[in-house]
Amino acid sequence: SSAHAALEAIGDTHVTRGLFRMIPRIMLKGEGLYATFSDGRRMLDFTSGIGVTSLGHCHPRVSRAAAEQCMKVVHAQCSIAYHEPYLQLIERLLPIMPDKSLDSFFFWNSGSEAIEAAIKIARTYTRRQNIICMQGGYHGRTYGAMAVTRSKTIYSQGVFPLMSGTYVMPFPYWHQMGLPRDTPEEVLVEQCLYQLDLVLTQQTSPQDTAGILIEPVLGEGGYVPAPAALLKGIRERCDKYGTIMIVDEVQSGFARTGKYFAIEHSGVVPDVMTIAKGLANGFPLSGVVSRKEITDKLSPGSMGGTYAGNAVACAAAVAVADVMRETDILSNVNARAEQLYTGLNTLAADPAIAPYVLEVRGKGLMAAIEFVRSGDDSDTALKGMQVPNSPKGIAPRIAIRCIKKGMLILTTSVYETIRFIPALTVSEVEMAEAIEIFSAAVREEIA
Ligand code: PMP
Repeated sequence: SSAHAALEAIGDTHVTRGLFRMIPRIMLKGEGLYATFSDGRRMLDFTSGIGVTSLGHCHPRVSRAAAEQCMKVVHAQCSIAYHEPYLQLIERLLPIMPDKSLDSFFFWNSGSEAIEAAIKIARTYTRRQNIICMQGGYHGRTYGAMAVTRSKTIYSQGVFPLMSGTYVMPFPYWHQMGLPRDTPEEVLVEQCLYQLDLVLTQQTSPQDTAGILIEPVLGEGGYVPAPAALLKGIRERCDKYGTIMIVDEVQSGFARTGKYFAIEHSGVVPDVMTIAKGLANGFPLSGVVSRKEITDKLSPGSMGGTYAGNAVACAAAVAVADVMRETDILSNVNARAEQLYTGLNTLAADPAIAPYVLEVRGKGLMAAIEFVRSGDDSDTALKGMQVPNSPKGIAPRIAIRCIKKGMLILTTSVYETIRFIPALTVSEVEMAEAIEIFSAAVREEIA
């Protein structure tokens, strides 16, 4: 309509250029796996707002819980008084934590803020300064979070200096390590742990190292699951040196990978865990979970924030937890993930497509397919190996083809990678539709 066109013109002129936007349209209505836009198109949404609307757009129980809370208390302010949903949320989260030891909660608004809080907790508890993070890791755009973000330069370009005291170890992702694609996982993990030991010997001594921060599935860095052996190796070193192991479950948490938290696939128990995104199905809410023994070292007032743990957002999160439990969301995630990987592997095995595919990977509904960067010699073990800037070849072109065919989809990392991160409520029919659209887009691009 002309009213929408006029609004879009305001967007084009007056919304900061600092934002990237996939489509210059207004999302008018979201319902489950679908969203309707101002150009009249109804699109299959395989982005879920970057892994946020995990129960689908506007899940009726979540939206209703939020609306009802709106009529009771919208803002109680966490430093002034408790509100009911804050405490009910803790009650819901305690039984699904990866371990009983994780029993102390603090809620904030965004994933970045949760990371800032996690770093503060690690520094306060250990009375040490330095943080070791992963190459390819993404933790947010505030200053502390940017300092531990190593997935792309675009986030911090031109705005240094960042928070100091951050060190980087490699993550076991063959491409980023410059190793052949068929390098055995044990070798990748061994290399990374060796480099971690060198960081602790050559760069920041254990006595100066407050924490090691890792995503159990590298998210913005390419959807690469951390092998259990790596997480165990990090845990061992944290135990040995009294270093805090911080696991960032902002993207991988809340059933996304087929378990409530991705760290559970490894059996490793972190000291601090950050949560957000799927936690509240679109309401701004994040959290830091730790042990009471650790957070008892914090001074009252050192944590907080005007909007931290907002009552409406917490009420939504309580409903999310209830729906996930009652509908056995984990079963659907695992069934739909199997359907997705079968579809992607079938496509990748097609002799016409195979030369363009490097890898299908992921965990649960955090799935990705990496393509060969155009111009690469696809016959070498190191195909696709170039120092890239960001994907600007085949992956974004396929994503654009998907959008033209009616499906929203995202790329990830600096390599030519497409990611699949639909709502966890995705049905068998919707998943089949996504695989069909994606396969058609790939065939069209490669033909
Ligand atoms: N950590 C991870 C693993 C993330 O994926 C993100 C967001 N993509 C963040 C932190 C930052 O969260 P937010 O955008 O809510 O600040």
